[in-house]
Amino acid sequence: MAYQTVNPYTNEVVKTYDFATKEEIQESLATTHSLYKEWRNQPIADRAKILHKVADIFRQKEDELAKIATTDMGKLFKESKGEVELCALIADYFADHGEELLAPTPITTRATGAAEIEKQSTGVIMAVEPWNFPYYQIMRVFAPNFIVGNPMILKHASNTPGSAAAFQAAVEEAGAPKGSLINLFLDYDQVGDIISDPRVQGIALTGSKRGGQSVAKAAGESLKKNSMELGGTDAFIVLSDADVKKAVDLAWRARLYNAGQVCTSSKRFIVADNLYDDFLAQLKAKFAAVKPGDPMDPKTTLAPMNSKRAKDKLQAQVDQAVQAGAQVYYGNQPIDLPGQFLQPTILTNIDQKNPAYYEEMFGPIAQVYKVHNDEEAIELANDSELGLGGIVFSADPKHGKEVAKQIETGMVFVNTFLSSLPELPFGGVKGSGYGRELSSLGLMAFVNEKLILTAQAPDYTNGAGGLAVM
Ligand code: NAP
Repeated sequence: MAYQTVNPYTNEVVKTYDFATKEEIQESLATTHSLYKEWRNQPIADRAKILHKVADIFRQKEDELAKIATTDMGKLFKESKGEVELCALIADYFADHGEELLAPTPITTRATGAAEIEKQSTGVIMAVEPWNFPYYQIMRVFAPNFIVGNPMILKHASNTPGSAAAFQAAVEEAGAPKGSLINLFLDYDQVGDIISDPRVQGIALTGSKRGGQSVAKAAGESLKKNSMELGGTDAFIVLSDADVKKAVDLAWRARLYNAGQVCTSSKRFIVADNLYDDFLAQLKAKFAAVKPGDPMDPKTTLAPMNSKRAKDKLQAQVDQAVQAGAQVYYGNQPIDLPGQFLQPTILTNIDQKNPAYYEEMFGPIAQVYKVHNDEEAIELANDSELGLGGIVFSADPKHGKEVAKQIETGMVFVNTFLSSLPELPFGGVKGSGYGRELSSLGLMAFVNEKLILTAQAPDYTNGAGGLAVM
């Protein structure tokens, strides 16, 4: 697809970009690879200084960057500003902690000599990223790999080219050497070519199952390490002892933030039977109170979806769910604005045969289910092909934690928003992918954890000399 910014609030085509040429790709591979070799002999502290500068630039340019993201994909300006600040936090975190986390780890061994694990860079990383957090998704891969010493080639989503270009410009402005991050407007075949190039040693993708499958296949064919951050059908479990008002206060935000286009949005609300009716009534009141409009206007509380294509796809999913027996408890009415708005909608009575039961609905649609005890709630939450995140709500945090332990996902939050912070690992299990981003785990994604065992040279003259047992 052509790289184009189409403002989803006005439908205006803001700017179209050309695809990268063969020459640009070759030059980018050469530049990033030579930087990788240069960085191998450079102290981490030098890059940490630049990464702090990247954080400074993000903070200085918060409004400018936020406006670019909002124009690209429609999110509320205040949410874009929050995303820019989060990027600065991530850059600062890896600048502050990278050196310490990458220090060699000594191993106690029966072998003769001193053994340790060195943490070394591996080469150029190809990052394929989505539009829903057009800066944060890039920063999750860029900051740790910059500290490790792995330069990055970026293929961003075709509908957020403005944000991709602005990210690269911010990195350059911070004084990062050429090749630290190169954004290229690539088609899928070009992505495949880059993945198979021997200078590229790691592939990170965040996106859909379809995108993940094809990029993981290409990575597998070249035997390249890869991490996959895919979709989610996260459950929000309201246990029978919960305070409904508090639960709903969190629930509507967890579903409508970023117009519901978040991999870890709560998509399935699983509610204890004693609270079900009350929960639905209160959730409806919250959904009905949102104000669609210009995402740049601070009074707007519901942003348009990122594109016509995304809105049409979600509307078709809702129509199909209703045809298969789901009830519309609230919403599913057109919004009389030219932008790509979809009314927040609550669906109930979704049974296992309904396609919506297993599908990810990537927008402001809440599915609500009634359960009769904790076991039923856990079983329903785990009856998913995906396993990204989840929220458990309970008056008793210990009770909530016991339930959280039984949820088959990569992240569960008890009584709080599923938030992403640089020190917390992010990622899923099952169809939600593999590997982790952020935190010490994410830092190691494309690191060579290399054993070095150092001993005194053995003296073979008298027949001795500890030959290794294989
Ligand atoms: P998508 O279609 O897979 O797009 C994501 C990125 O992959 C884009 O840059 C896209 O490029 C690229 N891509 C897709 N197919 C490709 C192929 N065959 N070869 C090379 N590149 C390819 O995903 P989306 O539907 O826009 O994004 C939403 C999905 O991402 C949701 O499922 C959401 O849950 C998931 N997500 C997951 C996380 C997480 O951390 N786990 C975070 C955010 C979003 P084009 O734009 O050019 O198609």
